[in-house]
Amino acid sequence: MIRLSDTLSGEVRALDPLEPDHVRIYTCGPTVYGPAHIGNFRSFLFADVLVRYLRYRGLRVTWVMNVTDVDDKIIRGAAASGETIDTLAERWLTRFIEDAAALRMMPPDAQPRPTEHIPQIVELISTLMDKGHAYRTDDGSVYFRIASWPAYGRLARLDPDEMRVGERVESDEYAKGDVRDFALWKGPKPGEPSWDTVIGRGRPGWHIECSAMSMAALGPSFDLHTGGVDLIFPHHEDEIAQSEAATGQPFVRTWLHCAFLQVDHGKMAKSTGNIARVSELLEGGVSARALRYALIAVHYRQPLSYGDESLAAAAAALDRLDAAMASLETYAEDRADDAELGGVLLAAREAFESALDDDLNVSAGLAAIFDLVRDLNRRIGSRALSTADAERSVALLRDLDRVLAILPDPAETLEPELAALVEERSAARAARDWATSDRLRDELLERGIAVEDTRDGQRWRRLVAAGRG
Ligand code: AMP
Ligand code: ZN
Repeated sequence: MIRLSDTLSGEVRALDPLEPDHVRIYTCGPTVYGPAHIGNFRSFLFADVLVRYLRYRGLRVTWVMNVTDVDDKIIRGAAASGETIDTLAERWLTRFIEDAAALRMMPPDAQPRPTEHIPQIVELISTLMDKGHAYRTDDGSVYFRIASWPAYGRLARLDPDEMRVGERVESDEYAKGDVRDFALWKGPKPGEPSWDTVIGRGRPGWHIECSAMSMAALGPSFDLHTGGVDLIFPHHEDEIAQSEAATGQPFVRTWLHCAFLQVDHGKMAKSTGNIARVSELLEGGVSARALRYALIAVHYRQPLSYGDESLAAAAAALDRLDAAMASLETYAEDRADDAELGGVLLAAREAFESALDDDLNVSAGLAAIFDLVRDLNRRIGSRALSTADAERSVALLRDLDRVLAILPDPAETLEPELAALVEERSAARAARDWATSDRLRDELLERGIAVEDTRDGQRWRRLVAAGRG
């Protein structure tokens, strides 16, 4: 039974999909005005692991992640570079997709964009106006009337009298009925993109986009909604108010929020400038697998302190895992099966699953994998396994990796030049030319390839710590 921690109720609850065996998930995605930073990717990869785990458990999952392609920052960015917002958004969306693929994030089933959902957004706003939850101001904007929605503030546990204290009240919002009210639709301004619609000319506010796009893709009520903790208020609070006020139905079953990735005890954020970007890290020699590992290894509700040390720890852990995989993949022993192995593999699978069932406890799941790896290394060392046992062990590790996606690509091959050196070394060993064999081993090591001589022959693996795995 999968249990997840719900921000709204504050409870850990069993996952009970509204449609049998079909889980519908919405994740607040990137705003494409620049490259996403790895803090953003922590929140996206948390959703990726969640989706992967539900699929591993045999559930059908529909995963929707929006791409915000019109907002203040995109408009400012496009004005600064003299591009249209479409060109700017397209460029950064391409980069986002590349970064996501490098980090092995699965492509979501849908990536809706606000500029392609103007009719749905306008319809939702019209409904809110008809029902008295929204009103128009003189500048052509439309605001949500917080006073019309008593449940407002429940997700963020706000004291109704102190709501929105500290939030910037923009000078052009003077026409609002209540400072707490938020914009659903922004009236037209010179130099800004706008759409001509039945509620007037203008452009959508950020919060209403996610309500409209999630309900367009997944229906008025769906199972899970994810994002970083900074989205609890006001973004998700506003999403609940708008959606439920319009439909009269509960919007989301369970709200999941991922804690921040921190650098030097502070949140990684574009506004503070302490950011690291995926492609820059990879170009600097960081291994994509190590980065993924570092971003998913800590429980999603715990803050993650990121730095060279966490990357080095991730690389070292992957090296251990890769070494065990390489040993198992080349292992050959013509002997009876290890009578204990079936039980060992089953216990490892159960430990892994119970960790992930428990509010997606990835760190405990990884611990189960490393316990297994230690045990398998012992059995490899004492030649207790049969060839078939080694194959069974690899199959289990690969199966669990459907969830974590941290193992090397099984189709991975060496660059021809390196493959030639490995071959050459093999020939040198066959000719008992130890000097050449040692020299080639050192040369390969320098280029990030470890060759090891075992009873099963020479084998190679790419070192993660060297930044190339
Ligand atoms: P944005 O593109 O700013 O809308 O952010 C996209 C996602 O990244 C949202 O779910 C944010 O909550 C999340 N996010 C932003 N900064 C961090 C961080 N430092 N750690 C974890 N998640 C973050
Ligand atoms: Zn959103």
